[in-house]
Amino acid sequence: MSYGDDLYTDRSKLRADVMEIAGGRCEHPIKGTTTTRKCGMPALELAHIESIGMGGRASADRVNNVLAACRRHARSTDDLSSMEWESVPPPHDQKALAEWIREVRMMEGWAV
Ligand SMILES: [Zn+2]
Repeated sequence: MSYGDDLYTDRSKLRADVMEIAGGRCEHPIKGTTTTRKCGMPALELAHIESIGMGGRASADRVNNVLAACRRHARSTDDLSSMEWESVPPPHDQKALAEWIREVRMMEGWAV
């Protein structure tokens, strides 16, 4: 298991690690006609992929379950029923988002 699945008890440490991986930019996917890219807006907060309400706070605080997000995408990630979620590639679910985040981080050289 890589450190990306380690549980964090210190949220400021989790924030620092994810912001470093994200380069301070929103990691939420934007679907184009042929490719999907990261949003890239300045990241202001962290968003859980599997929300703290569903998995419990303790199990949610992992690098692989958190993405850096702009304000707009932090809201949409926490509310999967929102319209914003339609910009995420099919099948529009948490698993797809988690896989996408893992893939882009790996491509950028982060062994999470
Ligand atoms: Zn964004």
